[in-house]
Amino acid sequence: MKGVALVTGAASGIGEDCAKSFLEEGCVGVIFADIDLARAEAAAKSASAALGSITSGRTLAALKVDVSDSTSVDSMVSKAVGIFGRIDYCVHSAGVGAQESSSVLDMSSTEFENSQAINVRGSFNVIKAVSRQMITQTPLTETTRRGEKISRGSIVALASAHSFMATRNLSQYTTSKHAVLGLVRSAALDLATHGIRVNAVCPGWVDTPMVSKATRGIPEIRTYIEKLVPFGRMAETEEVSEVVLFLSSSRASFVTGAAWVVDGGLTQEQGPIT
Ligand code: NAD
Repeated sequence: MKGVALVTGAASGIGEDCAKSFLEEGCVGVIFADIDLARAEAAAKSASAALGSITSGRTLAALKVDVSDSTSVDSMVSKAVGIFGRIDYCVHSAGVGAQESSSVLDMSSTEFENSQAINVRGSFNVIKAVSRQMITQTPLTETTRRGEKISRGSIVALASAHSFMATRNLSQYTTSKHAVLGLVRSAALDLATHGIRVNAVCPGWVDTPMVSKATRGIPEIRTYIEKLVPFGRMAETEEVSEVVLFLSSSRASFVTGAAWVVDGGLTQEQGPIT
C-alpha cells in the first residue's frame, strides 16, 4: 500500500492500531485525526517511534476533528489534502460507547441523541466529505501479489456486532450501529459507479479504552463479557486492524457494501443447550 490514509478516532484503540498499520504497510502519508488532538499527536509519535527506520520517507500528521460537525470534517479533509494532496484510504473509527446504561424506559434523550450525532451523523459526514475528495483524484496504481490494480479509493467504517444484535440497556449504541451499517450499504451503492469501495467492519468485544470505560475496571464485568464470546476472550486491536487493512487494499478490489464480522463467534452464540 503506497497511498495516503486518513484515520478518524486515531488517538486510541482500533483507530490508533489501523493508523499505525497503514504506516507499517508503506503508506506515504498517514493522518491521525481525532477530537483529542494531544492524544492523536502522541499516538502518531508513538507509532513512528515503535516502527523506527521503516517509517523513513513516510509522513505523519495529526489533525483535530469533531466528526459530528460537518464543518469540522470538511476542514479536516481540506487540511489533509493540503498536506498530502490526496486521500486513498479512509478508516472511520471515531465513535462513542454508552455513557449511560439503562432501559428505553429511562434512557435520556440527550444520551440517545449524542450516540446518533457522533456515531451516525459522524459516519455520514466523514463518508460524504472523503468520497467527494476521492472522486476528484487520479486513481492510484497498487501493486498486489497478482500484479497491478487500480484503486479509486476505499472507505472502511467501524460498525459493530451491535449492527446485528442488541444488548439490554444499550438502545442508543445498538440503534447507532444498526444505522452505520445501513449507511455503509447505501453509500457503497451510491459510490460504486465512481469505483469507490465502502465497507463495514463489525467487531464484537475488543480490548480498548472504550471497553475499559464500560467495564469500569471491575474484573467481574470483564469476566462476564469474556464468557459471552465463544473464543472466551476479547479481541486485540490488531485482530481488527488486519481485517480493516485487507478491506482497504486492492486485494479486496471486488468487495463493497460488505459487513465483515470480527467477533470470535459472538453473533453466532445462542447459549449452551445444557
Ligand atoms: P476508543 O474509545 O478507544 O477510541 C475512539 C476514539 O474516537 C477516541 O480516540 C475518541 O477521542 C474519538 N472520538 C470520540 N468522539 C469523537 C468525535 N466526535 N470526533 C472525533 N473523534 C472522536 O474506542 P474503540 O474501542 O477503538 O472504538 C473504535 C470504533 O470501533 C468505534 O466506532 C466503536 O463503536 C467501534 N467498536 C468498538 C468495539 C469495542 O469493543 N471496543 C466493538 C465494536 C465496535
